[in-house]
Amino acid sequence: VTKTRFAPSPTGFLHVGGARTALYSWLHAQANQGEFVLRIEDTDLERSTQEACDAILDGMKWLGLDWDQGPFYQTKRFDRYNEIIAQLLEQGKAYKCYCSRERIEALREEQAAKGERQKYDGCCRDLPARDTDEPFVIRFKNPTEGSVVFQDHVRGQVEFSNEELDDLIIARTEGTPTYNFCVVVDDWDMGINCVVRGEDHLNNTPRQINILKALDAPIPEYAHVSMILGDDGAKLSKRHGAVSVMQYRDDGYLPEALLNYLVRLGWSHGDQEVFSIEEMKQLFKLDDINKAASAFNTEKLNWLNQHYIKSLAPEYVAEHLVWHMQEQNIDTSNGPALAEVVTALSERAKTLKELAASSRYFYEDFEEFDAAQAKKHLRGVAMEPLQLVQKKLAELENWEQEALHQVIQDTAAELEVGMGKVGMPLRVAVTGAGQSPALDLTLLLIGRERCAQRISKAVE
Ligand code: GLU
Repeated sequence: VTKTRFAPSPTGFLHVGGARTALYSWLHAQANQGEFVLRIEDTDLERSTQEACDAILDGMKWLGLDWDQGPFYQTKRFDRYNEIIAQLLEQGKAYKCYCSRERIEALREEQAAKGERQKYDGCCRDLPARDTDEPFVIRFKNPTEGSVVFQDHVRGQVEFSNEELDDLIIARTEGTPTYNFCVVVDDWDMGINCVVRGEDHLNNTPRQINILKALDAPIPEYAHVSMILGDDGAKLSKRHGAVSVMQYRDDGYLPEALLNYLVRLGWSHGDQEVFSIEEMKQLFKLDDINKAASAFNTEKLNWLNQHYIKSLAPEYVAEHLVWHMQEQNIDTSNGPALAEVVTALSERAKTLKELAASSRYFYEDFEEFDAAQAKKHLRGVAMEPLQLVQKKLAELENWEQEALHQVIQDTAAELEVGMGKVGMPLRVAVTGAGQSPALDLTLLLIGRERCAQRISKAVE
């Protein structure tokens, strides 16, 4: 059974690059009825924080990337790493290195001066065991000959000559295991048979494979995903605006839109642009990931967001809208159901943040009419239709959309004016502004009492 993982380091929020890697890893598991593991790589004690950890979990949850196992924390697994290190030492597959920092430094300088690749020279590799309390690190005995070859789902066949790799430090002087080593033990222990990660880890892969071989552990499949660039071609960074997944939530995006956007950012299936999550699960293949870096395109994301706001069930969109209403301090306890507001406003809103902002008049009275609109529509002769509408609305038996439409039509007919001459003053009167959904629907959702009060205020 396919088993994949997402293994973020909790040194910051979940950014779009990480989220895309997580999505691909999750989809590969989903597409193969496999399992998806979440592992928190928190061994860098100085840079890892609980806050970042929570932010990553929040991001994963908001996106709906649910995991079958974990989250596992590397800091809780030190005993296990040390056990394996001891075993490698005993088997002669790792060794203690007593080289001082000064010696390593001098070696580096010497190699740099000769224009050689900087690597450890293996000085302590074959020393007999010493009985000393000098400080040491533990190094893995990397093979000195041959090469490491693997098939990458994205990059095809990849080969590294062992000569390029030096003897990796697997335990530091204080005894803590190093990053590459922990990853190997974890992937092995957790039964991960497919590793999906960023191409920045490509150089780690041959080192990890050599350690896996030394442990007689199975070698997983690999997919190293290319970078995401900003729309200016530079590596995506904060400078390009939102990079944290939760910032997209705050800015009013639906998770469906961001997921759809991310899946297409580096993967394609023909020229299809819109993918439901179900479709992604069915169609996703690691082999279809693009090798080239992809450029972020906010316009496309906006287009997808609008598409999902319009096409997902209004009740569902409303669940996401709740957060924005709270954020904007709009009390929705007195007013129309949120789903109805979504239906009414979804054509116009690019984001949920905008949608929330433009729904305020359904729930709250406004202080003032928009000055420019009022000047145009709530003055002089423009007031006559409004007064007639006011009277007709007061006499209306049932506050229903069709009847409301009829009132507007009748008023226009009676005064022999166009619908706009009735509609605009009425719209400004009940919403305070010059734009709203269809007027009959707007009146219906604002409700009888509020409409009456607002019209009175306008005709005063
Ligand atoms: N912890 C690594 C990172 O956040 C990922 C390592 C891996 O996926 O193997 O970049």
